Order: sequence, then structure tokens, then C-alpha cells
Amino acid sequence: MKEKKEIRVAVAGPRGRMGLETIHMIAQAPELKLVAAIDRSHDGARVADVTGAAGLDGLVYTDIDACFSKENVDVLIDFTNPDVGKHNLQKAIDYGVRPVIGTSGFTNDEVDRYRRQMDEKKLGGIIAPNFAIGAVLVMKFSQMAAKYFPDAEIIELHHDKKKDAPSGTAIKTAELMTKTREAKQQGASDEKETLPGARGADYDGMRIHSVRLPGLIAHQEVLFGGKGELLTLRHDSMDRASFMTGVHYAATTVMDLETLIYGLENILD
Ligand code: NAD
Repeated sequence: MKEKKEIRVAVAGPRGRMGLETIHMIAQAPELKLVAAIDRSHDGARVADVTGAAGLDGLVYTDIDACFSKENVDVLIDFTNPDVGKHNLQKAIDYGVRPVIGTSGFTNDEVDRYRRQMDEKKLGGIIAPNFAIGAVLVMKFSQMAAKYFPDAEIIELHHDKKKDAPSGTAIKTAELMTKTREAKQQGASDEKETLPGARGADYDGMRIHSVRLPGLIAHQEVLFGGKGELLTLRHDSMDRASFMTGVHYAATTVMDLETLIYGLENILD
């Protein structure tokens, strides 16, 4: 049997909540090797010292150009913020590094623009608003259900440090639902908000509600209302470890791709 080559990974945002979880996941994954981290500070420090993940090789870089010039990197995993994530994704494309982007905030137009560049280079990559397998299944099930239940509302619930609203997962769920749902403006035709925003964001006539509270991690409920029945789909990430099966799967799968995939659901069998 052909032996698989170790995949050389750099992580951007290594001290953040998701980045740190990724560093610990890589430390436990024999087929992944951490070669560097890209951080806002600690240039030249050892990743192990900065993250507390003992036994890891690799240095911290504050300059992504320096990192990609000096290190032989196969895959960049990015969990930073929307502006930095876009900058890092472009750098990965420029240097021929396969991007695995968990950072949220990408529009469809932006994804298309990056995909065109990557297709030209036959470079594989993944942008996934949600790496939790259960959350991806809720998206898929919602797409199925929306065909029969066009009246639906999405409630996404996250910790209160989250910067964007609604979540990338909620937008992606709504987008998938529009593929099967008949276009429809929900609620009473003469409904009025006595407090602005009470009905949530409008996505193609569906409503999306964002809850932000300490104690939460990442949760989503999709409610479908029909005649005399209510269907509720719910997923809860109780721990950031819930995202790591998907991150690991993406980091190994990009090695065999020649385009940019948007959404983990598109690479799950
Ligand atoms: P966080 O704030 O804990 O971490 C972000 C990290 O990025 C911080 O440590 C910050 O110092 C670092 N950073 C900022 N600028 C940087 C730069 N120029 N270079 C390197 N690092 C830089 O946030 P988080 O909870 O870890 O989330 C990160 C992103 O991942 C967010 O966009 C969030 O919405 C997204 N997210 C995605 C998933 C998923 O499954 N795809 C799950 C959870 C969170």
C-alpha cells in the first residue's frame, strides 16, 4: 500500500479559541505535522511555548509572507477574523498553499473570486462556515425539509464574543433551503414591528434570529411550521472539539482537491 505523506500545516490564529483547539488536534494527529503558526505577536517564539501544546515543533511568524517563504507548508488552517482570513487566504493562493478556512464572513461573490484563481492554479481548498458534522447535517436536513415546509425560521445562538451576526452557518443554512423552498414572505402581510428588529433578519422572506449569551458555544435551531405540525431541527456544539473532526477531514481532503469547496457538506459522502 502506498504510504501517505505527512501533511505540513500552518495555523493562523493559534492563541484564539478555535486556533488553539486546532493546535491540540494536530498534536494528536499522526498524519498532520505543525510546521508554523501565524500570530499577531510572538514572532520567532516556539509554537509549543505560546500555546502550551508540548512536543510540537514549529515557530511563530507575524508575517505570513515570511512564513510561506521560509517554511514548506502544504495546508494553511485559518481561524482569525474576516479581514485577516481574507488576507491570509489570498496569500495562501499566491504561494500555492492549500487553504482550510474556518473564519466566517465570506460572501458568495468573494468565494467565487477566490475559486476562479484556485481553479487556474488547480489548487485545492475549503472554506467551511461550520466544521461540526452535526451542524452540517442540520443544514442538509433543513434543505430537505424546506421543500415541504416553506414556512421556516432560523434561530442561531452563540457566545457573546462572536463578532458577526447572523452566523455564517445560519446564512449557509438559509441559502441551502432556498434551493428547495418556494419563495415566500413569511408572517402576516400586515405585521408591524413595534420594536425595530423584533422579527429578525430577512433572508428571501425567511427570518433569522441571532442570540448572544455567555455560556453558549455554537447552537442552531431551524423551526418549520406546517398545518397542525411543527418540525424542529437542532444542533448544539457543547465543546469546540466538536469542530475538529471536520477540520481534520478538511486538512487531509484538500490534498486531493483541485478547486475551492465552500461548505463541508460538499465533501462529505
Ligand atoms: P478568537 O477571537 O478566539 O480567535 C481569533 C484569533 O485570531 C485571536 O487569537 C487573534 O489574536 C488572532 N488574530 C487576529 N489577527 C490576527 C493576525 N493578523 N494574524 C494572526 N492571528 C490573528 O475567535 P474564535 O472563536 O477562535 O473564532 C475565529 C473565527 O472562526 C471566527 O470568524 C469565528 O466565527 C469562526 N468559527 C468558525 C467555526 C467553524 O466551524 N467554521 C467554528 C467556530 C468559530
